[in-house]
Amino acid sequence: MAKLRGSKLDAAIRALQDELAGGPRAEIPAELELLGGLVHTREERAKTKEEPERELLSALADGAAVIGKLGLVRVANAAFEALAPGGRAAGLSLLEITRSGELAEAVRRALEGHPRRLEVDTPATRRVWLAHLAPLLRGEVLLLLRDVTDAKRAEAIRRDFVANASHELRTPVAAIRGAAETLLAGALADPEGARHFVGMIARQAERLSQLTQDLLDLSRIESGQWTISLARVELAPLAQGVLDLHADRAAEKGLQLARDVADGLAARADARALEQVLVNLVDNAVKYTPAGGRVIVGGARADQGVVVTVADTGPGIDRHHLARVFERFYRADPGRSRDQGGTGLGLAIVKHLVQAQGGEVGVESGASGSRFWVRLPAS
Ligand code: ADP
Repeated sequence: MAKLRGSKLDAAIRALQDELAGGPRAEIPAELELLGGLVHTREERAKTKEEPERELLSALADGAAVIGKLGLVRVANAAFEALAPGGRAAGLSLLEITRSGELAEAVRRALEGHPRRLEVDTPATRRVWLAHLAPLLRGEVLLLLRDVTDAKRAEAIRRDFVANASHELRTPVAAIRGAAETLLAGALADPEGARHFVGMIARQAERLSQLTQDLLDLSRIESGQWTISLARVELAPLAQGVLDLHADRAAEKGLQLARDVADGLAARADARALEQVLVNLVDNAVKYTPAGGRVIVGGARADQGVVVTVADTGPGIDRHHLARVFERFYRADPGRSRDQGGTGLGLAIVKHLVQAQGGEVGVESGASGSRFWVRLPAS
């Protein structure tokens, strides 16, 4: 700039002003062209340097960025940009982008030449990331961020499931073992005591068999091995069949079973899956409704399909449990469920089977009992 003489500089600025104002195109002095050319080539050079990097980063599915020596993002791919406030990461620090002090510190260490692989929670996005930090030759750092939130969640669910299932299996096994040991230790000689312990073994074996059956059903549904074939299913005979299955138990308990499904009402469903759904719902209603109560299976046309309901006059389900009763092993009243031989899996199976048929399931509950509903497409 110093080389531009005063008059020449004035002329250059005037020419630029004219150009910006859209006025007559004055002749641009050679010095300005030279200066423009210099700026242009510097930009060009920066571009040609970043272009291959940009192309490389954009080919990656993970968030990827090159962080400059001062700890600011120099170039990033779209997946990484999406994390930044306003969708632009260039020029920002990792703390500004992710609000994770841990990641910012790891970047600082990587800029000193220490590679690192770490898992970080980012409060800004409420997600979990697997971060790879690799120092580059020119003193910069390559950061790769993989979103592992769903994988972490699935892992936690699987771990919980295994822990719950083991716990559920251990309880009846321990009871059977205890009863058998007591029999061997002398109770066999006492016919009254022997009958008691053999009865206990039979009940616990039944519980084990129910539990393994439910676990197998659940795993077959979840792994897609339970094939669903949708066809027209008449609801009245299906509901009657399920009620008949429960007639003896209901009579023993002094419960009234009823059906309120219009003849000819049909859903587009898988007959076997829908029967299992109703069996589980009626089974629960019979299980939890005290003597003198009533269980009604209903069916009606709804806006876009049909709704099948199982209502009872039992204790109902507290509002704060309602949203969770379809989770595996979730019980509103664990003591009562176990006393009744519950596995905690019945409603999880119901939910999966209904969803596999393209339907929805839910529950309403009040002081007068529970009402489970299943919405399915009409036939
Ligand atoms: P369980 O084998 O324990 O019955 P489910 O998955 O079938 O497991 O049900 C989950 C929980 O929902 C039960 O433990 C119970 O607390 C509650 N529940 C389900 N159906 C009813 C009902 N008809 N009345 C009251 N509570 C119910």
